Amino acid sequence: MSHAPVNLSRRQLFTRRKMTDSPALPWVKEAQFTDLCTQCGECVKHCPTQIIRASDGGFPRVDFQLGECTFCYQCADVCPEPLFLPKTEPAWQAKAAISASCLATQNVDCRSCGDSCEPFAISFKLAVGKVAQPQIDLNSCTGCGACVSICPTSAISINQPQLGSANVT
Ligand code: SF4
Ligand code: SF4
Ligand code: SF4
Repeated sequence: MSHAPVNLSRRQLFTRRKMTDSPALPWVKEAQFTDLCTQCGECVKHCPTQIIRASDGGFPRVDFQLGECTFCYQCADVCPEPLFLPKTEPAWQAKAAISASCLATQNVDCRSCGDSCEPFAISFKLAVGKVAQPQIDLNSCTGCGACVSICPTSAISINQPQLGSANVT
């Protein structure tokens, strides 16, 4: 019974992850995350863009509503636990996805996400009788999340690719 709160926290984390399908932290060893993370908060303190916050039972997690990941590796550098992969590995496989709440699907002209995307992964496709529709080039998208908080209808999420999410085309 004494372990119940810990187990509950972990279950809440995994439940949330299944729902959001979003990454926890860049370079993190996902399978060992809840076992190795002591919730010390060092990554939260040192993230230059301040996008890491404690959530779901205290485990740190990036929140793209707060800003973008610059892939600076600070969170990994300051972590005292063997929780992160080397910087030479990919940070994550996460990619942006656009939902049907995008203004363009309602024929309202908006290009905010495209303007925020440094690697130019978002392009706008002209369509007859409609405003230009955003398209994400998943090969160029780094999953940085810069497009998330800029979207006026919160239409963009950053998802792990294996569980999928449809893009607006
Ligand atoms: S890599 Fe840098 S910007 Fe990205 S979450 Fe870690 S500390 Fe923050
Ligand atoms: S910023 Fe949001 S509403 Fe505007 S085009 Fe991009 S996804 Fe659509
Ligand atoms: S997550 Fe970053 S790279 Fe991907 S579409 Fe958004 S701004 Fe561009």
